[in-house]
Amino acid sequence: RFASTLAPLDSTKLTIEHTTTPKPKLAKEDLVFGKYFTDHMLEIEWTASSGWSTPKITPYHNLSLDPSTIVFHYAFELFEGMKAYRDSNGDIRTFRGDKNMIRMNKSAERIALPTFDGEELLKCIDKFLLVDRDFVPEGNGYSLYLRPTMIGTTASLGVGVPDKALLYVIASPVGPYYSSGFKPVSLEATDYAVRAWPGGVGDKKLGANYAPCVKPQLEAASRGYAQNLWLFGEEGYITEVGTMNVFFVFKNQDGKRELVTAPLDGTILEGVTRDSILELAKDRLDSAEWTISERKYTIGEVEERANKGELVEAFGAGTAAIVSPIKSIGFRDGRNIEVPVALGNSGELTSQVAEWIRKIQYGEESYKNWSRV
Ligand code: PMP
Repeated sequence: RFASTLAPLDSTKLTIEHTTTPKPKLAKEDLVFGKYFTDHMLEIEWTASSGWSTPKITPYHNLSLDPSTIVFHYAFELFEGMKAYRDSNGDIRTFRGDKNMIRMNKSAERIALPTFDGEELLKCIDKFLLVDRDFVPEGNGYSLYLRPTMIGTTASLGVGVPDKALLYVIASPVGPYYSSGFKPVSLEATDYAVRAWPGGVGDKKLGANYAPCVKPQLEAASRGYAQNLWLFGEEGYITEVGTMNVFFVFKNQDGKRELVTAPLDGTILEGVTRDSILELAKDRLDSAEWTISERKYTIGEVEERANKGELVEAFGAGTAAIVSPIKSIGFRDGRNIEVPVALGNSGELTSQVAEWIRKIQYGEESYKNWSRV
């Protein structure tokens, strides 16, 4: 009813207030993921009566919120994770940010927070990147991690639709996930705790999905594993690993290989890296030798095929590391699946897809419109 009178998110209105106290830049080797932020942040307020207000780039600052604010009680919070990379010309590039914007709007829509024109937010992020460009580190594996976030800011304990929201973006320079070569991880097949379920919100990037996954991760760590392999249901369907999507490579009796990942059935986060790997694999792998499958598959199938020598490699996929090779999957009853990892600590396809994506991210190769200067 009010839609036509509400202001849309409009990047042309953006204002910039520069910091008067610039932070010293940290040495590249001192970068710790998500601990250190740039000089500025981007903020856009929303109200149900007026819509989106003026986007503002301001010095990085604390938020001041009433203790009753709805985000603190009922988890009206969603976020995104994307990166900006410095190319060999010194230009700054983002990778498939349009996908992050689509996912962010789906998350917002699911928890009754306002949606917005994703391209407009990307334009504001472009400006933010220009203001803080000196914080985008150079070098392979280095990037500026961007954290778009939205919270409900209505000050009230009533459980209901927020009538105020804040969209903000902060940025943290980060170093390579693997400083010297790949480090393959051991996983615990987790069946006693469930990350997502049909009809739930596991396919949305809501903060509320993440806190409950930390305890099972600690438990896996106490048994010597690096991450959880999240299973679902009596069947033991493989869904994701830690906070990454997961891929397996099998070889069939006839020598043909299959790259498998779980389908987007509502229990899987729609990873930008996952999507990119599927698209590049379909485009670049020889279809006479490869089948690319989005299908349901179980831990039982993985175990059986490992026993038959048909498990070739496995890897997690996400923005943080691009790919993360898997070396083993353990069960609480002591069984263990060994995943072959070739020389260099990664399977052949694992290394190949990492390199495909890295080259596009750093502008060494252009592919569709995936990289935005
Ligand atoms: N699954 C989960 C649960 C995640 O949190 C993420 C991102 N952090 C991913 C998968 C990977 O998504 P993307 O490739 O977009 O980073």
